[in-house]
Order: sequence, then C-alpha cells, then structure tokens
Amino acid sequence: MTTNEVSIPPERVRAAEAVAAVLAPGRRVALTTHVNADGDGVGSEVALWHLLTARGLRPTIANPTPIPDRFHFLLPAGADHSERAAREVEAADVVLVLDISDVSRLGDLARTITQSHEVACIDHHVSGGSLPRGPRLVAPEAAATAELVFDFASALQWPLCPEAARALYVGILTDTGGFRFANTTPRVLRVAGALLERGVDPESIYASVYASAPEGRVRLTAEVLGTLVVEPEHGLAWVTVPPDALQRHRATADDLDGIVEYPRSIAGVRLALLFRQLANGKVKVSFRSVGDVDVAELAHRFGGGGHRKAAGASLEGTLASAQEHVLAAAREYLNGR
Ligand code: AMP
Ligand code: MN
Ligand code: MN
Repeated sequence: MTTNEVSIPPERVRAAEAVAAVLAPGRRVALTTHVNADGDGVGSEVALWHLLTARGLRPTIANPTPIPDRFHFLLPAGADHSERAAREVEAADVVLVLDISDVSRLGDLARTITQSHEVACIDHHVSGGSLPRGPRLVAPEAAATAELVFDFASALQWPLCPEAARALYVGILTDTGGFRFANTTPRVLRVAGALLERGVDPESIYASVYASAPEGRVRLTAEVLGTLVVEPEHGLAWVTVPPDALQRHRATADDLDGIVEYPRSIAGVRLALLFRQLANGKVKVSFRSVGDVDVAELAHRFGGGGHRKAAGASLEGTLASAQEHVLAAAREYLNGR
C-alpha cells in the first residue's frame, strides 16, 4: 500500500486493521505510554487522540507520570487526564499502550490494567513485551512509534489533521535525535516529508521542543557534565546526576534528556552512561552506544531494555553499588570486542 509515496508493509496493514477492530465508535480509550513520557510517547498519543476523536470514539490520555512541559504545546484542551490516570484506565473499554510493550514500564498503572480490558499496543521496542494479549502493531525496525502511528492512519485511510501531523513529527524528530541517530532511515525521512507536506512547521517545532529551555535545565546540564569520567582505554564515559540536583534546579527528569549525548560525543567513546537516583529508591541507568556496541543486550542483563544504541534499566540498591556493577559489566563487555 502506498500513500504519498510511503509504502506500508503488508504485515503493518494487517496489524493496523487488527488494532482498529477494537476501536469501534463510542468506545472509551485510555491512551498511555511509559513513565517519563518522551516526545515519541506524547506525539503518538496526541495523534491518536485526534484520530479517534474524529472517528467518534472517546479517547483520553492517561500516563503514569506527568507530561513534560516542553510537550504541552501539542496537547488539545481537555485531552490529558494523567493526574487521575488510574481512574481513567479503570473506566476505559480499551487501553492503547504506545511506545512500550512492557507492563513494568507503566509504573503504578501496571496493576490497573486488568483482564477485562482490551489492551492494544503500537510500539517499536525490541523487547518481547509483557502486556496482556491483544492486537499489536509492533515493529522494532521503525524509527519511532510515531512512524507506526503514521502507518496506522495511512493503512486505514484515516485522515491526519494538521495537529496530529505535528505531533507525529515531534515523535520522529525526538526519537531520531533530530534526524542524527542510526534509526534515521530513508523511510522515516519520507514519513517526515509527508508530514511536512501536511503543513507542519519544522522551525516552530524546533523552537518549542529544543529552544524553550528553562534556565534550570542549562544549569543542571552544567552540573551533571561536571561529574564526567572518561576511561579512554575502554572507550567508556559516564556522568552522574547528583542526588538533589533536580530539586535544586527545579528540574524534572525530562530536563536530563540528551545530556548523555555529551559523554557519547567524545572521540573514541563507544559506550556512554548516565546514572541517576530515582525517587522510588532505584537507580536509573541510561545506556548509549556508538558503532557495534549493543546496549539493549547490556541493559537487559540489569532487567532493562530498549534499542541497540539507546537503552535503559532501573536497578535496586544504592547509586554506588549500581555504578560498581554496571561499570564492571561495561568494561568487560567492551574488552570483549
Ligand atoms: P532513556 O535512557 O530513558 O532515554 O531510554 C532509552 C531507551 O531505553 C528507550 O527506548 C527506553 O524506552 C528504554 N528504557 C529506558 N529505561 C528502561 C527500563 N528501565 N527498562 C526497559 N527499557 C528502558
Ligand atoms: Mn520512548
Ligand atoms: Mn520511541
């Protein structure tokens, strides 16, 4: 199937039809994504909110954690009810999980999703997933979930309004690191092109997403970069978020997004890490790689997952012990190749 010169693989068309089969007009749909929603999760939710509203469904966004300020410009009035997400999920006929296939990444919402729900999923992660059975449009080779939402709409010939197109563009822009990462395929550029043809303004989106930073984000970045450690002999570099730094800079987890690109950008570094103490006592590790280092595999050893060149895990224990274990595994991994 071809739309605006972007062909949709037949298995994606079939998967889109299976997902659409549970989306009958009148149904209440809770749209949700992983904790600390990113541009891909929010963009995909917002686009689906428009698509489903136009078809006479009753969608609502119900995320386990608040939507970061930098994406608020995408939200239609009254669309986001994440502050009472559990109740929204309980009241829904269908839960549509976006940009994740693992229940564990849904935070406190995981226990709210019950057998009585239809649970559909659109996602591009490599992990097998642990959601209840339900229709899925999952393709790890997609650059972003937003690319798959574009395919979903195209396959069903559901028109994308300008607001939905803009939201999908944000998902693609952010998950490809501004069209720089290895997932920047010819196909996703064609999808981005098709979105621009629908009137998306890339300059104003850049301004909203990347050039409207609160001062605290820049000061936080400076402080975290001050912790940089580099081990050139291993091609390893890491930074650590000081435990109270977010609070001091009135920042949120979203303000840390992209900081790990600095250690990754050092010549000779093949593996970059960011360590952070979470409020729940766990330690979050972000893994980024260059070349053939597979961080999804490394993160998986610590109960996490993600993609080959960008992955994450949440570990039990103190920051010091998490660092000790992850750095030891990282050095051993890098020495072996
Ligand atoms: P992040 O480091 O949080 O930017 O995440 C990088 C990639 O790893 C994203 O695709 C995440 O969905 C995935 N990821 C992050 N944290 C976890 C985790 N605790 N478990 C599984 N996947 C994760
Ligand atoms: Mn994501
Ligand atoms: Mn994504």
